[in-house]
Amino acid sequence: MLTETENKLSIDKESLPDSRGYFGEYGGCFAPETLITPLNELAEAYAKAKIDSEFQAEFARELRDFAGRPTGLYFARELTKHLGGAQIYLKREDLLHTGAHKINNALGQAILAKRLGKTRIIAETGAGQHGVATATVCARLGLECVIYMGEEDIRRQAPNVYRMRLCGAEVRSVTSGQRTLKDAVNEAMRDWVGNSRNTHYILGSALGTHPFPMIVRDFHRVIGQEAHVQFLEQVGRLPNEIFACVGGGSNAIGLFFEFLDKPDVRLVGVEAGGREISEGNHAARFSGGRVGIFQGCKTYVLQNFDGQINATHSVSAGLDYAAVGPEHAYYQGIGRIDYAYASDAEALEAFKLLSKTEGIIPALETSHGLAGAMKRAPELSQEHIICVNLSGRGDKDVQEAARVMGEGF
Ligand SMILES: *Cc1c(COP(=O)(O)O)cnc(C)c1O
Repeated sequence: MLTETENKLSIDKESLPDSRGYFGEYGGCFAPETLITPLNELAEAYAKAKIDSEFQAEFARELRDFAGRPTGLYFARELTKHLGGAQIYLKREDLLHTGAHKINNALGQAILAKRLGKTRIIAETGAGQHGVATATVCARLGLECVIYMGEEDIRRQAPNVYRMRLCGAEVRSVTSGQRTLKDAVNEAMRDWVGNSRNTHYILGSALGTHPFPMIVRDFHRVIGQEAHVQFLEQVGRLPNEIFACVGGGSNAIGLFFEFLDKPDVRLVGVEAGGREISEGNHAARFSGGRVGIFQGCKTYVLQNFDGQINATHSVSAGLDYAAVGPEHAYYQGIGRIDYAYASDAEALEAFKLLSKTEGIIPALETSHGLAGAMKRAPELSQEHIICVNLSGRGDKDVQEAARVMGEGF
């Protein structure tokens, strides 16, 4: 057995995933036969793009001019004062175009799709945030766009459906299963099987079959790269601890990746604890899940003893999913990233507190990462620094938050 420190020091983050898409025992490529060719084609195209300076320059330009990068690193002075412990800094992904980190990945994949000669984009969406980001970049890059969305989510997220349609996307209602995200993923997969010749599937988180978890992670790595430079320039040193919410895990791995091989920086992912940790009432895969294979990869999944996928619950639609990205399963296993959860109630408290102390309304997803940091900060001295990934803004959530807190709107 390695000691914890040796373990952390032995991290070779750039070598993962391996050529078969594995992060240790997690990940892989569990896809239907007909998708193996387009998946291989995608992996090859990405390997070339990764070292192609023209691709990287175009991606960087779009991130800057269209999405609004770099995002700020912001000292939350009033929140810090209120909590009376560690200094809290926020990485402001909420300031990006369309309101969250998701546009980093949508832009990267859409540019990649064009290089592959694809003219049509499909994507799945739950709360609609990934659908909006995808529809937006398709308008920008002149690509046809079809978004799959569960009938139930279409009803709950009407403003986002309208945004997608304004940007020229076709939103297709999915009426199978629970009529939510998991079912939309299945429909998008079915479309891709039939149309992969001219169609690219922009998956929305660091999830699914290889090479998606790797590609999505890489397109979000800019978050951590910027934060690293900003901490050195603005603060003169790195933070002690970094918190991020974990749905599929894209905003978290995007920020964490840069720091994985810096053992003095503690990394904490915060999952959705929902009402309580019991079947059907949460989405904390590391607290209530088991290893299984679901929608393309091997990872922690919320399932019953027959392997049936459990219903999930979270006040934030973007964290409400039964599986976690396989790279997170790997770093949880070797103890490099710690995972906690925040309940609906704790997230709502964080949502209100950041709004009141800083004048920044965070997304409900983001509020889970914040809640973890708010619990931790008072346990640390004022010399400590905590960074929170402010993955998105809460404009989309004000009505829902008011409703669940019984405050009217
Ligand atoms: C979608 C979303 C998330 C959850 O997705 P990850 O892939 O885990 O980042 C978190 N925050 C916001 C604002 C989102 O829109």
